[in-house]
Amino acid sequence: MDPAWDKFRRRQRAFWFAILLCPPWFAFGSLLYYFLARFELNYDLFFILIVALPALGNIMVAHWRKFFWPCPNCGRPFHATWFYGNLMARQCVHCGLRKWAPVKAKTIKSISLDQWNPVADEYFD
Ligand SMILES: [Zn+2]
Repeated sequence: MDPAWDKFRRRQRAFWFAILLCPPWFAFGSLLYYFLARFELNYDLFFILIVALPALGNIMVAHWRKFFWPCPNCGRPFHATWFYGNLMARQCVHCGLRKWAPVKAKTIKSISLDQWNPVADEYFD
């Protein structure tokens, strides 16, 4: 698969990891809440601040990182314009590049090491 999509793949995995991490995190927080409730104090705020907000914040950040991921072809957000957003978009909402399609390298910065042509270096020695 094209290496230009590696960052998107990482962000997508981070998003799903944040989703999957939520139930065990809440289970752990509930267990902790249960043990702390023995002291007969109100720990609702503890549960919200220590358990719920970090878990939901993690999902929110992962979502936004995936949502505003820059298209490898045009550099603008792949899934969003200023008035429209579609996280399930199958092509870039700006340039129409299809998801997972190979991208032509435009600058030297976008060439990965496995695409580097060492023969071209001989002309500069
Ligand atoms: Zn694009």
